[in-house]
Parts: sequence; structure tokens; C-alpha cells
Amino acid sequence: MLKIEGKRIAGKTLNGRATRIDTSEALPCVALCPLWLKICLVLPLAIAITSTLGCDKGTGATASAAVSIMPTAVPPASGPASSAGPDNEPVPHIDAKRVFEYTREVTAFGERYMGNENHKKLERYIYDHLKGDEVEDDAFTADTVEGKFPVRNIIDKFPGTKDGIIVIMGHYDTNYWLRGTGYVGANDGGSSTAILLEYANQLRDAASNPKAGSRPSSSAGASGKRAGYSVWLVWSDGEEAVKTWSDTDSLYGARHLAEKWEKDGTLKKIKALMVMDMIGDADLDIIRNTNCTPWLLDLIYTAAERLGYQSHFYATEGPIEDDHLPFVKRGVPSADVIDLDYGYNNVFHHTPQDTMDKLSPKSLEIVGDTTLETIHMLDRR
Ligand SMILES: [Zn+2]
Repeated sequence: MLKIEGKRIAGKTLNGRATRIDTSEALPCVALCPLWLKICLVLPLAIAITSTLGCDKGTGATASAAVSIMPTAVPPASGPASSAGPDNEPVPHIDAKRVFEYTREVTAFGERYMGNENHKKLERYIYDHLKGDEVEDDAFTADTVEGKFPVRNIIDKFPGTKDGIIVIMGHYDTNYWLRGTGYVGANDGGSSTAILLEYANQLRDAASNPKAGSRPSSSAGASGKRAGYSVWLVWSDGEEAVKTWSDTDSLYGARHLAEKWEKDGTLKKIKALMVMDMIGDADLDIIRNTNCTPWLLDLIYTAAERLGYQSHFYATEGPIEDDHLPFVKRGVPSADVIDLDYGYNNVFHHTPQDTMDKLSPKSLEIVGDTTLETIHMLDRR
């Protein structure tokens, strides 16, 4: 369960994609006109549009014709400046069909609350996909209002040549309080588990195939390290409340990990932490979660914009509590990539209606590619 303290609609931003002006559409007669007439018609039009755009930039005026062809202006992400040269690498592409299939397989286990049989099967399923990787367990017992539960965060580490760590986190548990209702959490729990498996594939492929030139790890030395920061993937456990969402009944795995990493000094090394949650909705609408680090949210938006996916990001905003919270509270730059508008009025969230038929491979692709592009941009800073 994820708590919204007062989601509000920020107003849809204009996500104009077209910057090219098709004059033959604007003036249907032009194609049939003699050359001199074309020049007479098109030249003043071009001047008029150019000057309108100029005015719009300078004054913020909203002449509708100009605005409709303007890309959305997004302030550049702050934080450390880029020191890298021109970026000529190909853009990332996850295997969206494979992620969708992973989601289906994870969902097929049924309810997967902390400690139940299906949860254990899913743990084995995750480990089976990480064979040969550097995998670490963070296992402990949580004392909850419903008794004691075994909790297990699974951490898959891909070392990098740069000093610092990028953490990508997503929960794999479903809600204890929804047990026996037929709840399977395809989007909430399923999609996050699956997308992390695909990130592992991408990171592994890039490390073993240094000449592939694919983001987010375009090259690797003989050491097998990725060219960039270390990336740690965390399948977090116990994100969901066992009874009613509160500071003490939620985020069991993430709170434990943040505490542990604070004590052992890991937190100081984390350059960015990104949480994936409910990212498979066919009607993808990633909220700008205001409980996050603004420059990292902006960087994700810039990555989405580079790939042409910006219309799926930040049409709404509001504070949401999720696995990033224990980290952002400790000063770690953190972002939550979440679509908490799942069905009309969020009607599929935490109900037996959270099933595969509501999801789309395209949504997984949009989030997957955008996240890999964000990692790539972080690497270049
Ligand atoms: Zn949930």
C-alpha cells in the first residue's frame, strides 16, 4: 500500500513533439502554386512563425499556434555538471516482451506475502535468474502487528570503474492483508520484480560484451567492470504494510537496508537511488512524486524526453511514500518511478483486479529504456 497525502493535479504540461512545420499542411494550396507565389506565401509565414517563437521564449506569451509546436521547456537538471564529451552512443532498448513474460511468470505464483510458500518460490525464481552474478542477501526478521515475518532483500551487484553506486530498487512482495482474496499483484509487485530482472540482463550483457556499445554500460575493461558507477539492483521485501500503512507498518526491507547502509558507510557512496513501482499499467502516467530529490526527477524527465517518452511523465504530482523514503530521509539522492493512477480513480490498486490484462509491454519498455538512459546520464556526470 502506498499512501498519498494529497495528490493534486499539476495541470497537464504541453508535451509538443513536433518541431518541424509542414507548410504544405498549413497551406494546402502551396503545392499547386507557381514558384514565385510559393515564395510569397511561405517566406512571410516562416518569418511570422520564427518571430512568434522568439517572442514566446522571451516573454512567456502563449500564442496558441506557437505553443502547439514548441517542445516542453524543462529546466536542466542541477547537481554535478557533466564532464563528458559528445554523447554518440546508441539509445538503450530493453527486451519488453521478455519483461512482460517475467511479469506473467511472477504473477503466476499467486499471492507472495512475506514468508509464504509462493514468496519462497519467487525468491528461488529470482536467484535462478542471477546465476554467476555477485548476489548478496539482506535477511532478517520483522516484528510486526501481525507477528514475526522473515524478510529478505536480494542485492545484485555490477561493479563499475567509477567510484560510487547507483541503486535501482523494486519490491517483490504482495500484501499480507490481501491474502486469500485472489490478489496477485501483477502491477504492484510483479512489474517491479520483472523490470529488475531485465536490468540485470542488460548490465550482464554489456559487461560481458564490452564492444556492444549499448547503454548503460558501453564498455568494460579486462576487469569486467562496467564503464561508469557500480550498479546495485535491489529486490526489496516487505514494502507493503501487513495491516494498515504507517511509519512502522510499511517499507520493512527498505528501512532495514537504509539503516544497515548508514552504519557500514555504503549510503555515502550512493550517487542516486531509483525505485520502480507499478510501472506496467497500459495507461502509463508516472507521477512526479514530490517526496524525492528534484534534480534526479528532472534528470529522469530529461532521459524520457531524449527518447520521446516525456508525455508519460509528470502530468500529475504529489507526495507518495515508497521504498525510497528511508533513503531520501538520510540525504541520498532518490527518486520514485511510480504510476499511482491505476485504472479509473486507481480502482485496480490493491484489489484482485491487479492482473496481467491491465499491463502493456510498451509501458515496461518506456520505463525500462528511460531508466537505462538515466543511468547512462548519471555515468557521464
Ligand atoms: Zn502496494
